[in-house]
Amino acid sequence: MSFTFQEWQARAAEIRVNGNAWIDGVRCPSSDGTTLPTINPMTEQPLAQIAATSTQDVDHAVASARNAFERRLWSGLAPSERRVIMKNIAQTIREHQQELALLDCLEVGKCISEALEDVEESAVLFDWYGELQDKHYDQVAASPDGVQATVSYEPLGVIGAIVPWNYPLHNASVKLAPALAGGNSVVLKPSEESSLSALRLAELCEEAGLPRGVLHVLPGYGHVTGEALGRHPDIDAIGFTGSTEIGKRFLVYAGESNMKPVWLECGGKSPHIVFDDCADLDAAADAVISGVFTNAGQVCSAHSRLLLQDGIAEEFLTLLQKKIKQLIPGHPLNPDTNLGPIVSRSQFEQFIDYLKVGKHEANLLVGGDVVTVGEGSLFVMPTIFTEVEAKHRIFQEEIFGPVLTVTRFQKDMDSVALANNSCYGLAASLWTQRLSRAHRLCDLIQAGTITVNGVDAVSPQTTFGGMKQSGIGRDYGLAGMHKYMALKTRWIHY
Ligand code: NAD
Repeated sequence: MSFTFQEWQARAAEIRVNGNAWIDGVRCPSSDGTTLPTINPMTEQPLAQIAATSTQDVDHAVASARNAFERRLWSGLAPSERRVIMKNIAQTIREHQQELALLDCLEVGKCISEALEDVEESAVLFDWYGELQDKHYDQVAASPDGVQATVSYEPLGVIGAIVPWNYPLHNASVKLAPALAGGNSVVLKPSEESSLSALRLAELCEEAGLPRGVLHVLPGYGHVTGEALGRHPDIDAIGFTGSTEIGKRFLVYAGESNMKPVWLECGGKSPHIVFDDCADLDAAADAVISGVFTNAGQVCSAHSRLLLQDGIAEEFLTLLQKKIKQLIPGHPLNPDTNLGPIVSRSQFEQFIDYLKVGKHEANLLVGGDVVTVGEGSLFVMPTIFTEVEAKHRIFQEEIFGPVLTVTRFQKDMDSVALANNSCYGLAASLWTQRLSRAHRLCDLIQAGTITVNGVDAVSPQTTFGGMKQSGIGRDYGLAGMHKYMALKTRWIHY
């Protein structure tokens, strides 16, 4: 069922938000009573007060998660029982699609149409990892007569998951579904900007049958709750999504505490390469626009560096200038809106700073304007800079806003050199008809995911994650679950 703008506004007015933490199956304030406001970026007014959990709350949640793990409340269930519960979670998420989408829309200004898709993609993750529960095999090694050697996957124990704000429910699900599928307990910390959908998800997981104590959600400050999780001696692994800067800190926390494995999904500056034999420039231009401007450019894998082969560069830029007009800033609750506000004033100011840098370094082709939409003043027009060189800051740094840089090249190897001229290596996309060129580029480009004749393909069946400073480890797929598990070898002599 689809709603009009007015209907979404009416639903938003009715929604009840609860910013209390979820510890041991109970909604509770932080132990020291501290709260933090969550701000609606459309109005810049507080939406709710959120429990800013303390280090005592972290200890409490970790102890409860450990207790649930030791009692095998979750990992001790038959795989088919876990499958049913995980698929129930998926179903329950779908039944609350509008509520969950509204929470993300109100808290981070995500367009409602995109927020609805995020909810469905979250449900798909619980479905996929749920199905895996009783379809997953361990290994029997070749061994001499009278000896059996097996290698099996076991849950690690208690996983600390720390996530950012740009896809609040989805980022939480990307960590939760595989960590739970691995038989673990989880303590999840959402971003300061976006706690509400993750908190609601925890309640829905319990409604769907997840045993009490297996999942805890601790909203709060990164330097308090996040750091306490990172340093906690009784957490067995960290799954982090966020900036490269904070990801590096988790490596330090682990090194200075119990040497827990740290899995990092961090920043990106993905290249999008269009060759002059591209079969469909129109489709490529659509992909370039969606690849960088979706979610107002606040996407880890945003394809923010366009590399254009000389032969088609002028024609392609004309196409982009035409298509960019289809992006119209609007109220995030309006189903027709495809460009919402920037998440916060500080992120908005960062965009303005980069705009100044870009104007100094390169040529502003289009955009760069700040606009107001009703009462909202955190809107910026999608922006394209041309004549950008690899040495420029706007080419190298993750802006996390709607900014595309354009750099031209002549030869294939020039495009490879430009694509790899980055400390990041999350994703890349390229457009060509030549299969040999496509494979060659896939071999040479340093990125965790490469899409040919499309953009930013992601699916639970494959993996997602980065090379270089985009991260360590992979989300999605079997790898996404195995990283939260330990391999155990048994030698049985009989
Ligand atoms: P961030 O690194 O500022 O925050 C991420 C999380 O870390 C939040 O929960 C935050 O509270 C916590 N945190 C902050 N300071 C901390 C500290 N000192 N110790 C422990 N925890 C701390 O990132 P953000 O601004 O929320 O999100 C944007 C970033 O996330 C971008 O760099 C983007 O590329 C990245 N991201 C990556 C992926 C991916 O899959 N690779 C996906 C989404 C976002």
